[in-house]
Amino acid sequence: MRAVIAGAGASGLLCAGGLAEAGHDVVVIEKNERVGKKLFITGKGRCNLTNACDVRVFLENVVSNPKFMNSSVYGFSPSDTVGFFESLGVKLKVERGNRVFPVSDKSGDIVKALERYATRSGANIRLNERAISVKTENGRVESVVTDRGEYPCDVMVVATGGVTYSSTGSTGDGYAIAKKAGHTVKPPTAGLVPLLAKGVDGLAGLSLKNVGVSLVVDGKSVASQFGEMLFTHTGVSGPVVLTASSLAGKYFDEKGATKGKAVLEIDLKPALNAETLDARLVREISSAPKSAVRTMLFTLMPKSLAPCVLNQSGIDGDKKCCDVSKKERESIAKAIKALSFVVTGKDRADLGIITQGGVDVSEIDPKTMESRLVGGLYFIGEVLDVDALTGGFNLQIAFSTAKAVVRDLS
Ligand SMILES: Cc1cc2nc3c(=O)[nH]c(=O)nc-3n(C[C@H](O)[C@H](O)[C@H](O)COP(=O)(O)OP(=O)(O)OC[C@H]3O[C@@H](n4cnc5c(N)ncnc54)[C@H](O)[C@@H]3O)c2cc1C
Repeated sequence: MRAVIAGAGASGLLCAGGLAEAGHDVVVIEKNERVGKKLFITGKGRCNLTNACDVRVFLENVVSNPKFMNSSVYGFSPSDTVGFFESLGVKLKVERGNRVFPVSDKSGDIVKALERYATRSGANIRLNERAISVKTENGRVESVVTDRGEYPCDVMVVATGGVTYSSTGSTGDGYAIAKKAGHTVKPPTAGLVPLLAKGVDGLAGLSLKNVGVSLVVDGKSVASQFGEMLFTHTGVSGPVVLTASSLAGKYFDEKGATKGKAVLEIDLKPALNAETLDARLVREISSAPKSAVRTMLFTLMPKSLAPCVLNQSGIDGDKKCCDVSKKERESIAKAIKALSFVVTGKDRADLGIITQGGVDVSEIDPKTMESRLVGGLYFIGEVLDVDALTGGFNLQIAFSTAKAVVRDLS
């Protein structure tokens, strides 16, 4: 049987190796000059290839369509991913949050291992060639059309990725292929993406650890996280913000603008409740009654945040601590517990770590990844409307869905 795979990224390479190992004639079409460009930049160049968790925890970290992933992840789980790469000779280690990395800390080792697996198994990788569409006859795949010619085949696997970090090759080509074949595509938008916010002037580069962050839309908290965040020139980013952007995906429109009035509330002292924070303020105030409120705040937060807290609590920073009333102290505490920045939308879509949206999974068999509309047409990886949080879960989606095709055709 002949299979043509569009895309030599994480999912395409694993699928290519598996199908070639099973004895199929496999051609991989990759539009870039080399394979695995996105894989290369994953995990800040270290590649967090999976998460050493059980399947239940994996599914809890899938944001869109976790049920769809059920069968394929039980078929090829995070521990199978670990076993697979170790069998290819890549030594792995587990870090904070069960994140799995190569011991070498080099994503290039994962790319090389996958490329070697595909080519040694007999797959033929054709670089600098772009897959354009699939031709069908009587509801089955007949050939794949590229910008260089046509490949008669029994199976086409679309592994073209999403739409973000487009310089790595993900430009959404798979959606066009899917649509032309009759599939529904949920509009792709960026996920795990920085947010645009107002009032962040002078804060760019400031990083906050151990803060609580809540995205509030029309007065309702739609995503709450605890951890690390940072300010950018245009808004906010960092782990908790990226996670909130994905969890709150439905509160942004297709262009990334917020639906409704959105505010990011930062709790600068999540370990203190109203009472203990007030006691702390009283202590700071009475230890330096003659100093300015502004200076007192420096003991509680990074200097550059003090003007925001003063502004939001409506207090003159030059006021002496001894002149601060109980009501004013409460206003300061309120601003410390919920420092607010108006969020206007997602930052540039290309900055998203993943794509939300994609090929509608109700038209795909979750056991095999085969289209329910066209026989022999498969979709794997990020092109599908499935995405997860950070921690190695997105690459696990790529690997589990790729293996589902291999199992189906072996
Ligand atoms: C900065 C960054 C860091 C990340 N870090 C992590 C991480 O540490 N852990 C994690 O789990 N996930 C991470 N991800 C997400 C992860 O990289 C993706 O989810 C994963 O690569 C998706 O695999 P894929 O095979 O579906 O697509 P890709 O890996 O994007 O591969 C798609 C391939 O298809 C090719 N292609 C596209 N269109 C065509 C066409 N028409 N014809 C031929 N070829 C085509 C592309 O050139 C590309 O090579 C990160 C993403 C980014 C952007």
